[in-house]
Amino acid sequence: MSDWWQQPLEALNPAQWEALCDGCGRCCLHKLEDADTGEVFYTRVSCRYLDNDSCRCKDYANRSTLVTDCITLDSGNLDAALGWLPATCAYRLRARGEALYPWHPLLSGDPESVHHAGISVRGRAVSEVHVPPDSYEEHIVHWVQEETE
Ligand code: SF4
Ligand code: SF4
Repeated sequence: MSDWWQQPLEALNPAQWEALCDGCGRCCLHKLEDADTGEVFYTRVSCRYLDNDSCRCKDYANRSTLVTDCITLDSGNLDAALGWLPATCAYRLRARGEALYPWHPLLSGDPESVHHAGISVRGRAVSEVHVPPDSYEEHIVHWVQEETE
């Protein structure tokens, strides 16, 4: 099946599962949760292992060991992550039976298209090594959860 990403997530093999990621890097930004409402707010502060240019993890193979709250998404834990994954996330879209956006590299054939479309964190994230944790609130952004056409 050439458009394999249109299959249900459960039908994807491991390589297809990995390839479904659009490379936006949004999920590697720190998030703050309102203790009263449970609402999640994204900040522009990125994990220290995120390469803010390529928007890829610098040590993907060891990510869950290096960062204890780095979640390795799979079909078993995806439901629990839907509340905080970005609205544009390919896993969230497909879990809801929605189509990928045209800028997704799988559709465009160009890994840069996610950056050119302004979806990735390239050019607008700041590494946590430069931001004290008690000031994350000052870095809350709204572009992560905005829907996009
Ligand atoms: S938000 Fe989703 S599509 Fe984007 S990098 Fe994270 S897992 Fe991949
Ligand atoms: S360890 Fe890698 S995959 Fe995990 S949050 Fe950090 S940059 Fe993202």
